[in-house]
Amino acid sequence: MDEKRVTTNRTPRAALFVYIPYCPSVCTYCDFNVYARRASEFDAYADAVAMEIELTAQALQTPIQATSLAFGGGTPSILTLPQIEKIVGAARRHWEFVSDAEWTLEANPGTVDLEKLRGLRELGFARLSLGVQTFDDARLQQFNRAHTVAQSFEAFELARRAGFENINLDFMYGLPKQTPADWRETLNRALAFESEHLSLYGLQVEERTVLKKQIELGRVVQPDAEVAAEMYECAVDMLAAHGFVHYEISNFAKPGFASRHNKTYWLNEPYLGFGAGAHSLWYDARGESIRYENVKSPREYILRESRNESVIAKRESISPAMQMAETIFLGLRLAEGIAWERFRARFGVDAREVYREQVDTLSKSKLLRVNDERMWLTEQGMLLSNQLLWRFLPDE
Ligand code: SF4
Repeated sequence: MDEKRVTTNRTPRAALFVYIPYCPSVCTYCDFNVYARRASEFDAYADAVAMEIELTAQALQTPIQATSLAFGGGTPSILTLPQIEKIVGAARRHWEFVSDAEWTLEANPGTVDLEKLRGLRELGFARLSLGVQTFDDARLQQFNRAHTVAQSFEAFELARRAGFENINLDFMYGLPKQTPADWRETLNRALAFESEHLSLYGLQVEERTVLKKQIELGRVVQPDAEVAAEMYECAVDMLAAHGFVHYEISNFAKPGFASRHNKTYWLNEPYLGFGAGAHSLWYDARGESIRYENVKSPREYILRESRNESVIAKRESISPAMQMAETIFLGLRLAEGIAWERFRARFGVDAREVYREQVDTLSKSKLLRVNDERMWLTEQGMLLSNQLLWRFLPDE
């Protein structure tokens, strides 16, 4: 029996995540575990995920309340409704959901129509996250994204008609040759959608991506980090002026619409992930914190599930020092930061004492603010978070 499937009832609540590793095309900047042109595999994949949910629920042997269900990817909306329904059905059969559980599905324009969106609402999804990225068709094409700007508008309009009242739109900034004026124009157009949530990601040039190669060959201009920082600051100001709360480094929501599923990750709380390459944060039979990672290859994943073999590729115990560090560097992504009392209740120690040196240094540099209740990153600290959060990692 799978190790993950034997555990304690120390944590009766968990977020559920389903990873769909398929996309209509692979974007040039993407380094996720994704595959294009695999439609013939979708049925078997949906069966395998439903099977993993079922076996996990049986083996946990303890009732767990699900606080959220999120389908991410990849492009979950590439699956047909019956395929999604199969997975959702398994989740509903085996997990009890809290009454206000958040159900999110990530979708890309061009993979949804009114019928599918209505079907998703009927299945229980109330939150839709749409990958719009930019309002420039030439850039969409350059990045090998499989949709047009017109399809982004259409998808949003259809989602509203289908009854989605909680929609996130994803955008990217810091694109090659993108100017701050271009970005302001993008933000103005994004705001005109009147979505409840916006996620803004700076373009990263990852190793082993087509984009990296294109830059090395001089076919695409290297994005300018300073210009990207200026764009980020501009977005923070503009969105605040339009009533968005900047609640996490890359995330902005109208009051009451912050993503509760994603907050599980930032609070470093338990979650169960299903699907190829999915991660889980759970506990073993002794109550110790463990991170699990499933096999990445969807074909291998399908094969193993069909043979009732474990799909876990990696199991990593997380030491108490690492758990504390992860709680700090994930929690500092949130604008609310780290509450001293919550940290003490969880780990039995005062974070101010454990991280005295880091807190002093970052406070003096005006990257971190501290009061009697909590510590949190300043806007400048959020901007530089990638360069400073590693300071909280233990020497292991
Ligand atoms: S749609 Fe998203 S997950 Fe799929 S290839 Fe593009 S960036 Fe990657």
